[in-house]
Amino acid sequence: MKRIAVLTSGGDAPGMNAAVRAVVRKGFYHELEVFGIYHGYSGLINGEIEKLDLGSVGDIIHRGGTILYTARSDEFRTPEGQAKAVEQLQKHGIEGLVVIGGDGSFRGAQKLIQHGIAAIGVPGTIDNDIPGTDFTIGFDTAVNTVIDAIDKIRDTATSHERTYIIEVMGRNAGDIALWSGLADGAESIIIPEAYYNMDEIIERLERGHKRGKKHSIIIVAEGVGSAVEFGNKIKERTGFETRVTVLGHIQRGGSPTAFDRVLASRLGAEAVELLLKGQSGRMVGIRYNQIISLDIDEALMQKHQVDLALYQLASILAI
Ligand code: ATP
Repeated sequence: MKRIAVLTSGGDAPGMNAAVRAVVRKGFYHELEVFGIYHGYSGLINGEIEKLDLGSVGDIIHRGGTILYTARSDEFRTPEGQAKAVEQLQKHGIEGLVVIGGDGSFRGAQKLIQHGIAAIGVPGTIDNDIPGTDFTIGFDTAVNTVIDAIDKIRDTATSHERTYIIEVMGRNAGDIALWSGLADGAESIIIPEAYYNMDEIIERLERGHKRGKKHSIIIVAEGVGSAVEFGNKIKERTGFETRVTVLGHIQRGGSPTAFDRVLASRLGAEAVELLLKGQSGRMVGIRYNQIISLDIDEALMQKHQVDLALYQLASILAI
């Protein structure tokens, strides 16, 4: 293999740049030519492909977002779109591709593999919802952004003696809610993976109130539904002064944490290593702090599992 390319696709995540840097630098280390594909699969179809040099990935390891930009492409979902993408790769003599993104992006990579392009997936999403890996690139940064925001909200919650309902991202996964809720000592954490009992949540709030607690924080994962509706129910039933905050896209941005930079560097380098070994159709991941890889098909057949032991622990500690 002489020429490889890298693209970022789906939602952006802090640490994607560190992964791009790792792919390029590891490629150079092995004397490969490395190309950057801009705007994900959409840019691939349109031939937005440029040769990268060592300098093109300088000064990006600490930056959020992705210098390659990202996109969602409906055209790439069609056989015609995929044929155009393959044609572009062949035109540039690219034999191997590293796709940094979520499960949808990996499904896209599988289509290219069917056309004889070697491809490796690198899990990059703040949601931590990709099966087969303990962590995805961007998750740790998002959790840290959330706890930073909650710490600030806590100040005003205490001063005004209010109950705050905070909605966090995560799509259908409760990981961001769970980790940030545990890290911030939230009274209750509502995630899609676990049944919640409103009576119990109310009881917990009232118990805290009786023993003189000045404020309460409840974290709601977006996958559960609207935090506003949830807040209205709490207000109706307790009569407590309640406010709802939807954190939104601030959770996607910001400088990646050391954990995400290191994870992205390890995963990006491993992806190149696998291509050099002639492998394809695999995603890289981390399990028990070891870098691993597994078949994309196998990974996508599994369902991401939230750590329910953490959920129980959070509930015990917030008694
Ligand atoms: P995130 O989890 O952050 O949203 P993702 O990678 O899952 O990331 P998607 O929008 O699902 O995001 O996928 C990104 C792109 O991958 C899509 O816009 C599409 O171009 C391509 N893609 C997704 N699924 C398929 C598929 N089944 N076949 C071909 N291409 C696909």
